[in-house]
Amino acid sequence: MVANKTKVTFYGGVNEIGGNKILLQDESTKIFLDFGMSFTAKKQFYSPPFLAPKNERSLQELGILPKIEGVYKFEQTSPDVSAVFLSHGHLDHSAYLSFIKREIPVYCGETTQTILRTLSGIRRADLEFNVSDINFHSFRTGDRIKVDDIVIEPFHVDHSVPGAYGFLVHTSNGTVVYTGDFRDHGAKPEMSWDFVEKARETEPIAVITEATNMTGATVSNEVEVEAKLDKITSQVEGIMLAEFGYSDVDRLNTFYKIAKKNNRCLAVSLKQALLIDALSHDKHLSVPALDDEGLLIFRKSKKRYERWETQLIERFDGGNKIFDVFEVSKQQCRMILAVSFYDLEELVSIQPASGSCYVLSASEPFNEEMELDYERLVNWLSHYGLPQYHVHVSGHMMPLQLKAALRRMGTKRIFPIHTDNAVLFKKFMGDSGGVVSLVEKGVTYEL
Ligand SMILES: [Zn+2]
Ligand SMILES: [Zn+2]
Repeated sequence: MVANKTKVTFYGGVNEIGGNKILLQDESTKIFLDFGMSFTAKKQFYSPPFLAPKNERSLQELGILPKIEGVYKFEQTSPDVSAVFLSHGHLDHSAYLSFIKREIPVYCGETTQTILRTLSGIRRADLEFNVSDINFHSFRTGDRIKVDDIVIEPFHVDHSVPGAYGFLVHTSNGTVVYTGDFRDHGAKPEMSWDFVEKARETEPIAVITEATNMTGATVSNEVEVEAKLDKITSQVEGIMLAEFGYSDVDRLNTFYKIAKKNNRCLAVSLKQALLIDALSHDKHLSVPALDDEGLLIFRKSKKRYERWETQLIERFDGGNKIFDVFEVSKQQCRMILAVSFYDLEELVSIQPASGSCYVLSASEPFNEEMELDYERLVNWLSHYGLPQYHVHVSGHMMPLQLKAALRRMGTKRIFPIHTDNAVLFKKFMGDSGGVVSLVEKGVTYEL
């Protein structure tokens, strides 16, 4: 019998949400699907900024960064991996590119590249997120990228960040499908089903699927989120504070629309403004224009601004665009203010009026872009008399839709990743047509 030449090893995303790092090998060709940061592993040892990893050795010592030869730029080995393919720009799929040898090409959508370059440019000295000098190559749906013996077809999917893709990886043994993160209840659900159909046509030998939402599933969509936010906004009398993911463009557009409809302005942070500006050059995306009068930029009070912040402030100087905390405080009933957990100190100066509200429009207690310290958040809201609404739809497929998608793809073998509930998934998917293999970290599976 000939030994199987197609293998897969999971170095992250195993019994955790995020941290995906999947090594796929065919004959002598090796590629990585995603190379993300594991929030779960990191949180076990670190609490930044005061307890933060000093260098890559610490991360490897604690098992946060896996030991893999021929991959890292801090090792004097020749590259042993031909390429890295990123499904999307969330940090749990992309941040650890920081450590990748710069001669290894990284393939991703154009939007992902914009997001990563913009955010990494802001955090210049960050050990765990620095994509400067990365050898990026852009792809689009319909491309077929040949890497030695493997052909990779990226295909768009709906997710809570624009520019998200699933992959069809054509190997010498057949096609392996990787869903990345996907859902069918965002702004473009049909994209995920197009991907499922495309996957079905290849008669895949295996599907590596996200299985994030096996508990706490909901039935809702972005349209419903808009209706709910509209209802709240129309009744709020003071300021409306809103927390949502800074790269969640669907939600940004929803808040922008709602603000307009209710005679308010949406005020975003300098960081979000920078990202909106970068994404506005992407002709396939629709984002509000920075010079639109419905969009304001909120400048936090601080002693020293970074260079990119000063540049942005100067660009709009005198244009009634940049609001400081005092201007926001004076015009509360005209604002939806996008806030993050780290902005709560601004409330001391804003002094929210009676009848103000806080809307959490992200998953709790943390999502792929932000971390919430829930207990402290509740204390701040209580101190300022701010009721909390939770209005959100997740970036991930719900269980019944996921089962329908897997059935439709019709594969023999399913690897659930990006989940805390792999055992539940295996039982639930027992009649989905494929054999579910529970994954162990660092173990190689033949396909
Ligand atoms: Zn993810
Ligand atoms: Zn994601």
